[in-house]
Amino acid sequence: MSNYDVLIIGGGPGGYNAAIRAGQLGLKVACIEGSDTLGGTCLNVGCMPSKALLHASELYEAATGGEFVTLGIEVKPTLNLAQMMKQKDESVTALTKGIEFLFRKNKVEWIKGWGRLNGPGKVSVSLADGSVRELQAKDIVIATGSQPTPLPGVTIDNQRILDSTGALSLPEVPKHLVVIGAGVIGLELGSVWRRLGSNVTVVEYLDRICPGLDDETAKTLQRTLSKQGMGFKLATKVSAANVADAGVTLDVQPAAGGAVEQLEADYVLVAIGRRPYTAGLGLESVGLVTDKRGMLDNQQLRSSVPGIWIIGDVTSGPMLAHKAEEEAIVCIERIAGHAAEVNYGTIPGVIYTKPEVATVGKTEEQLKAEGRAYKVGKFPFSANSRAKINHEGEGFVKVLADERTDQILGVHIIGPSAGELIGEYCVAMEFSASSEDIALICHPHPTRSEALRQAAMSVQGRAMQA
Ligand SMILES: Cc1cc2nc3c(=O)[nH]c(=O)nc-3n(C[C@H](O)[C@H](O)[C@H](O)COP(=O)(O)OP(=O)(O)OC[C@H]3O[C@@H](n4cnc5c(N)ncnc54)[C@H](O)[C@@H]3O)c2cc1C
Repeated sequence: MSNYDVLIIGGGPGGYNAAIRAGQLGLKVACIEGSDTLGGTCLNVGCMPSKALLHASELYEAATGGEFVTLGIEVKPTLNLAQMMKQKDESVTALTKGIEFLFRKNKVEWIKGWGRLNGPGKVSVSLADGSVRELQAKDIVIATGSQPTPLPGVTIDNQRILDSTGALSLPEVPKHLVVIGAGVIGLELGSVWRRLGSNVTVVEYLDRICPGLDDETAKTLQRTLSKQGMGFKLATKVSAANVADAGVTLDVQPAAGGAVEQLEADYVLVAIGRRPYTAGLGLESVGLVTDKRGMLDNQQLRSSVPGIWIIGDVTSGPMLAHKAEEEAIVCIERIAGHAAEVNYGTIPGVIYTKPEVATVGKTEEQLKAEGRAYKVGKFPFSANSRAKINHEGEGFVKVLADERTDQILGVHIIGPSAGELIGEYCVAMEFSASSEDIALICHPHPTRSEALRQAAMSVQGRAMQA
């Protein structure tokens, strides 16, 4: 029986960041990861490969779709899909090796196997050679992440009916790709394949895209994606799928009920969400139970069993890599006896479509539901000189501030580099800034960041450039 201060089950952004922080704090730590590579969903089949394809396909579309011609660049690009996939895979490998390096640097032991709780303070690991290693630790962190939610009647085979992992490695460009689910993953991967030449139809059960996103921002995103050629069938449910050699026939009907119609596609991507992953984890050995969604409950990252902690996608909150990372740091600080807190109110969310969408804090709908009086400041990118000169004038920055105190309560950006721009408002909100604080800060010209200041000025009704 090997003894540790901390054992971490799962080597994704939750698990590897927890392991690195524990190593930095001088704790004897091991990270148990059963896959061949570290990095979890994010590095292997999530954030990173999807961003690699979004980047490459964005450039391809710029070269083929008229943007280069507008800029006076005339080329005749051809798509080398195999090379596009290869460079993605190489980048992913480099990133996962990077985590191995960080483990060595911080004295984290990677135990390659599948971990299972085996009573309080104990973990059994099934190793690749079939043997079992018994470990024990004062503290155990569950960071086992999530997996795609299946859709009854539409069985994923990753041949014709894909989950996000399958959609990241298609060997050909679909003629017609149907994406089921208008959430972040569906819209990002739908964008990749549309840019590479597919007809893409997004089928969504709700009557809107991206539930939870600020309404006005979601409507603007849908309008923009529609203009780009992405089709939407909202308030529509998929009830069955029939797979043949060359494609799939989907039965779809209005969500409220009504006539069934058929939708033909050569590939279908099921992207209706993700669910926590706890299969085979031995929860029963310590008396832990999940809720109906399979989620493990936590109180300040502690489970109901002393010494067992829960972080990342496997527990409540947004399923985002940086949320898992934040919880990882705070969890380990607490294990080490330090005071630490996750501020869930300042965790940003980004959709890496073109234009990007980035948000932090409350939406208008949430503020209305809370009955909180707020002011709105908005600034369009069409009035931002840098965006305009780059022909990227679509979208806006919207700042929501408390009507009485002017404290910033939420920020919603749709536009170029929104994912980078939102960081400024995350910092501002972390410091409880007012919109006036941002309005008083000099921003470099010409940058898109000037739109952040102008939107803050607009809260006081004094935007100068629109
Ligand atoms: C296509 C896609 C795109 C995404 N894009 C983004 C994005 O742009 N930005 C963003 O913030 N988030 C994104 N996400 C979400 C992000 O990947 C997750 O939020 C993040 O990976 C969660 O980290 P985690 O550590 O909780 O879990 P995971 O990354 O899922 O890691 C869990 C790990 O635990 C291992 N494991 C599970 N059970 C055991 C066991 N019993 N023993 C040993 N090992 C085990 C698994 O093999 C896995 O490696 C995306 C997800 C997908 C699918």
